[in-house]
Amino acid sequence: MILPGATLGMLGGGQLGRLFTLAAHDLGYRVVVLDPDPDSPAGRVADEHLHASYSDPWALERMTQECAAVTTEFENIPADTLERLAETVPVHPSADAVRTAQDRIREKTFIREAGLPTAPFAVVRSVDDLEAAIAEVGVPAILKRAALGYDGKGQVRIGAADELAPAFALLGEVPCVLERRVELEREVSVVLARGGQGEALCFPLAENEHRGGILDVSIVPARVSERVAAQARAMALSLAERLGYRGVMAVEFFLTRDGDLLVNEIAPRPHNSGHYTIDACATSQFEQQLRALCGLPLGDVRLLSPVVMVNLLGDLWAEREPHWERIFAAEGARLHLYGKREPRPGRKMGHFCVLDGDAERALQRARDTFAAL
Ligand code: ATP
Ligand code: MG
Repeated sequence: MILPGATLGMLGGGQLGRLFTLAAHDLGYRVVVLDPDPDSPAGRVADEHLHASYSDPWALERMTQECAAVTTEFENIPADTLERLAETVPVHPSADAVRTAQDRIREKTFIREAGLPTAPFAVVRSVDDLEAAIAEVGVPAILKRAALGYDGKGQVRIGAADELAPAFALLGEVPCVLERRVELEREVSVVLARGGQGEALCFPLAENEHRGGILDVSIVPARVSERVAAQARAMALSLAERLGYRGVMAVEFFLTRDGDLLVNEIAPRPHNSGHYTIDACATSQFEQQLRALCGLPLGDVRLLSPVVMVNLLGDLWAEREPHWERIFAAEGARLHLYGKREPRPGRKMGHFCVLDGDAERALQRARDTFAAL
């Protein structure tokens, strides 16, 4: 067990790293953040910020010397970096698990081989694959680049077969997955933690609404039957087990109009849809990440109150600074800002949660509060 007072390493300096760092500080740990950006949200609150590239030998050496264990918040961290660090210091999740989640081709294939349902998909590596892919998948579809996509970036919607070739060209003819666009009833996600002995716990399901490909609102508990919730938890746990996963991971699901639960994707880290745990669960997903990393017992995942989380994107700053006082005035509302200086459109600047004994009311009040910002 790695106990308070120890120093932990965080690869990546975004908001997930920042929220981890704040949780770690609460528990008396030190945190060293590695991120190339000299002004990163996590770097700013860390005990030490190494602003160097993720493969910088000096920075990695420094991490191994200072840290009792290392984790990551950044999906696209080079897996080689994790591997190198793991030669001298415990690193969780493993390079293999992260490598699987980083690449949609590997990820979707892994999910399929685990025997779990996904939207129909086909791999597109070159122009030669296009015809067979569209024949197999059908339309409407979405072409998604295999690597380095997030928040719906690197995706093109396909309405008819002849749109596929231009879409592939638009994405630069990089390896892609062509995926059938399914009719969504709802989207849900499971954030889970798995420890070193294989013990695992799921946080309550979140129901997620997206806008423009970006998470907008999470509603907890999700408005799905207990049967669907149990199915989602079981699928998420089986994926974590199959990956030999240690740490916090998230699994996103589609619930189709036909009532089928499909796995969308895996995130090898805490997840935006798990931010509600900070305010509404007995343990936050970030404390849980620390517990799994340090070999502590996993924390209580109980939901203390229904909750709705709303993301605050840079668009909100278009005309002026939002009216924060309206969040401070709303009962049971809690604001989290990530300390990013530049509010670009689509950029995640922060989020707020509204807690209310009644979930529908929480949703209405969250929407009203957001509209008044
Ligand atoms: P993030 O990193 O924010 O999760 P991403 O770039 O990895 O996003 P996806 O999760 O693949 O993207 O897609 C983003 C959103 O687009 C989904 O949450 C869903 O709303 C919609 N979407 C993606 N794929 C499909 C599909 N096959 N059928 C219907 N809707 C889809
Ligand atoms: Mg997604």
